[in-house]
Amino acid sequence: MIKVDISTAFVVYLCLSLGVVLFAWIFFEYKVKVKRVNPEQKKTCRCPICAYVYIYDSEEDFSRCPRCSSINKSEGKKRE
Ligand SMILES: [Zn+2]
Repeated sequence: MIKVDISTAFVVYLCLSLGVVLFAWIFFEYKVKVKRVNPEQKKTCRCPICAYVYIYDSEEDFSRCPRCSSINKSEGKKRE
């Protein structure tokens, strides 16, 4: 049987616990992709029904409010 004193056992336990947390952190950091908003392609819209401000794709003529599901016309003017 391996004899270890209490301080060595505590250090090993602490290192293993931190290793598991570090591994889980790195794993979920690479697994979850953060949605990045490109300000040139997205615009904000304020819903006239519920006053909710949301982001929509500027290429679309109409956008749907995520809170009240009303369809709103895009505020951006197209160049003609
Ligand atoms: Zn709304």
